[in-house]
Amino acid sequence: PAEPALEALQHADVARLLPVPANESDKYRRGVVGVAAGSARYPGAAVLAVSGALRGGAGAVRYVGPAGDAVIARFPETLVSDRGPGHAGRVQAWVVGPGAGDDAATVAEVLAADVPVLVDADGLRLADRETVRARRAPTLMTPHAGEAAALLGVSREEVESARLAAAGELAARYRATVLLKGSTTVVAGPERGRPVRVNATGTSWLATAGSGDVLSGLAGSLLAAGLSARDAGSAAAYLHGLAGRLAADGAPVGAHDVAEALPVAWRDVV
Ligand code: AMP
Ligand code: MG
Repeated sequence: PAEPALEALQHADVARLLPVPANESDKYRRGVVGVAAGSARYPGAAVLAVSGALRGGAGAVRYVGPAGDAVIARFPETLVSDRGPGHAGRVQAWVVGPGAGDDAATVAEVLAADVPVLVDADGLRLADRETVRARRAPTLMTPHAGEAAALLGVSREEVESARLAAAGELAARYRATVLLKGSTTVVAGPERGRPVRVNATGTSWLATAGSGDVLSGLAGSLLAAGLSARDAGSAAAYLHGLAGRLAADGAPVGAHDVAEALPVAWRDVV
């Protein structure tokens, strides 16, 4: 089959996509993003996903899961609930999976919501393919090469050597938008013939634990603000890559440093 056309977002494209609250806006109109992430074993994944979500343009972040105390300690503005996602109140988009361990019930509950859902990390393994395919609202999946390989039943090397094809194949199988992470990030949609978006704003300093959790929160927040899965994924990859560059500036950084640089990257873009 012919290779898909490629498209790279530029500064000006991203500037147009980023949500700016209108004068008369309020937190609900800006969108509420729900984050279902973290576990007793990986509470930090919840904190990092929330850190990205708070800086992504939604008006409020609602966290559900077992890491509420850790989230609140770091980000007191988070709305925390210890009930399941089905009882969390209205959200405009969900992020599910970072550090989620084996909590398949939460993933299923989130996928049942009729709003855009971003599935990352453990959530990718736990998400039932037929359930994802049957969703009416958009689904955005954000695997790295290892996670994509596991979903496709091929080796990591096979994904690495044919990244566009792997993203397209996953998008078709799950009828979802797929953001395949790596040194460059590709965003492929389920629609045939649509150009694949490629992002190369990142830096290899982003290859650090928790980096992807920040990206998923950020992209989820953009979904809650009303961007399409394709736009939310590609704008988030652009900003996250730029934030990584600004934070690192030639030296090693942690994922929380990348999150803290997101507003700087945002200002640089708009
Ligand atoms: P994760 O593996 O889920 O923590 O996600 C890693 C994040 O860092 C993704 O956004 C990747 O695109 C990014 N990343 C990882 N390695 C590199 C690299 N060598 N160059 C640029 N970005 C990278
Ligand atoms: Mg990850």
